Amino acid sequence: MKTFYLDHAASTPLAAEVAAAMAEVAGQTGNASSQHAAGRALRDHLDVARETVAQELGCLFGEICFTSGGTESGNLALLGLALANPSRREILVSASEHHCLLSPAPVLSRLGITLRTVRADRYGRIDLTSLQEMASDQTLAIAAMHANNELGTRNDLVGVRGICEQVGALLIVDAVQTLGRESLHGSAWKADILFGSAHKFNGPKGVGVLFVRAGTPFEALLRGGGQERDLRAGTENVSGIVGLAAALRRGAISAPVELRERLAAGLPARFMRTVPPEVPTLPGHLHVIAPGIPAEQMLIALDRRGVFASSGAACSAGSSEPSHVLLAAGYDAQTSAQGIRFSLGPELSLDDVKEAARRITEAAEDIWSRQKG
Ligand code: PLP
Repeated sequence: MKTFYLDHAASTPLAAEVAAAMAEVAGQTGNASSQHAAGRALRDHLDVARETVAQELGCLFGEICFTSGGTESGNLALLGLALANPSRREILVSASEHHCLLSPAPVLSRLGITLRTVRADRYGRIDLTSLQEMASDQTLAIAAMHANNELGTRNDLVGVRGICEQVGALLIVDAVQTLGRESLHGSAWKADILFGSAHKFNGPKGVGVLFVRAGTPFEALLRGGGQERDLRAGTENVSGIVGLAAALRRGAISAPVELRERLAAGLPARFMRTVPPEVPTLPGHLHVIAPGIPAEQMLIALDRRGVFASSGAACSAGSSEPSHVLLAAGYDAQTSAQGIRFSLGPELSLDDVKEAARRITEAAEDIWSRQKG
């Protein structure tokens, strides 16, 4: 059976040229911190990779820190600020952020920093009116993602930046769903801290990048050999970092909007599209609610039919937990456990998408008819 991978927001295929660049370095002996020629050769690779990322972001070479991915970068963004013992004791974060920016709340609290969540609108975007009300001279930073990983919607980061400037807060941007897929160079919102993850743009898993603007009071979590200019100790994953840079140079191609619209058109009429097409979203991203079908049940039925998708909901045996993004967007708990995300890649053809839509419809009709019987 031919399978269809509709889960590019979760991870993307490793590009052949990226794998080749990594393989060349992976076989090299040495440690990038060693003074001898073998070590210096690896250090050169790291420098080239760092310069590539700095050019892409339009920032300084020394403002780039390589990490193990989006989760580590997000944790480090918050905890790095908190550990610097700032006089302001509050960070505002959109309720629809990825868990990597929400879950550190208890640890931040032990460090005396309160993480306060800001309301999201019905498309999961940070609500600027609420943000404006909550922001104050106590706000150390505001975190708002570039594009939401579940709904695909884009935050008004220029608006968020404006509020940051009014109260003198830093702007943290989770760009995991956009870095490497679109150019962030010269972005009008000028993040103070920004991060991305290589496996979302045809690079390797387990490697990411964190930009921290020079002069930002910031402390490391990992301490040891002083690598990454004291921001993250540990021997560098040189082949992974080379892979990240190669993937960034190559640039991931998104699926065209037409493909997403073709998929949407082929889905059951009872499916509810969470975000209408006129709202700016990631081009290959389609989120729906399958009424009456818990996400886990739908995903298993799709998996059996060779269609790979996901939900933002955490699944436990036989049931689906509600998605925190849908809850934040105002859906009730039951509906929030019925969300399905299809995220398309450029390798899919129109015929693939038509066939995937047919199988999705078949899976849903099958579940609904069994529910009736
Ligand atoms: N932030 C967003 C918006 C994401 O979509 C993800 C991954 O799905 C992450 C952070 C975490 O990234 P990683 O998988 O590299 O830990």
